[in-house]
Amino acid sequence: MDVVILLGAPGAGKGTQAPLLADRLGIPVVATGDLFRAAVRDGTPLGLEARRFMDAGRLVPDDITVRLLLERLGRPDAADGVILDGFPRTGVQAKALDEALAERDSAVCAAVLVEVPEEELVRRMSGRWICRAAGHPYHEVSSPPRVPGICDLDGSELYQRTDDRPDTIRARLAQQLGSLDEVLEHYRGSGVLRDVDGLRPIMDVATAVADAVVAAGLAPRTGTTGGAAR
Ligand SMILES: [Zn+2]
Repeated sequence: MDVVILLGAPGAGKGTQAPLLADRLGIPVVATGDLFRAAVRDGTPLGLEARRFMDAGRLVPDDITVRLLLERLGRPDAADGVILDGFPRTGVQAKALDEALAERDSAVCAAVLVEVPEEELVRRMSGRWICRAAGHPYHEVSSPPRVPGICDLDGSELYQRTDDRPDTIRARLAQQLGSLDEVLEHYRGSGVLRDVDGLRPIMDVATAVADAVVAAGLAPRTGTTGGAAR
């Protein structure tokens, strides 16, 4: 089984690219956030264990996350490979994943970074404005109001929440990019890191990501569900 890791800063478009890559390669996306929610909901032993930490407001330990992942990777639809989204988030997690996969004669065959410069990430994430009257959402770039600063629907003033302001976003991003750097360093070290320019149009990025994975040795599964089973 081949494991593909999709990496990118928040706002880089990783969430958009994951299902497109799944379609092209014919293998599923495994998102750790979804795995946790399902395990907790179904009350599986690992789910109950994870829940003890979540209820106490603590981070779920890496070994529980890794065990949950291995359980998922053992299911039939993962036999040809998986795309991991949302894990690993730190260098320590990347190492733990490598070790766990090695025990099963598996490995990360490609870690693809959807690369977007920091200033562009800030621009993408800080463009959100909402109206005072009803919270109608706007975005400077993708859905601007007809008159700047005024809601199209009710004429009320538009404002930015603290969370959406450039300085807040820059500070949060700096923290997240620090741990992403650790993960990149890890995969650069093992020789499986590939960079893709995330500034190009979505479908061009999708092609480049799929090409990078195929170049790393994962053969696309043509004639499979093509991702339609999602
Ligand atoms: Zn409004």
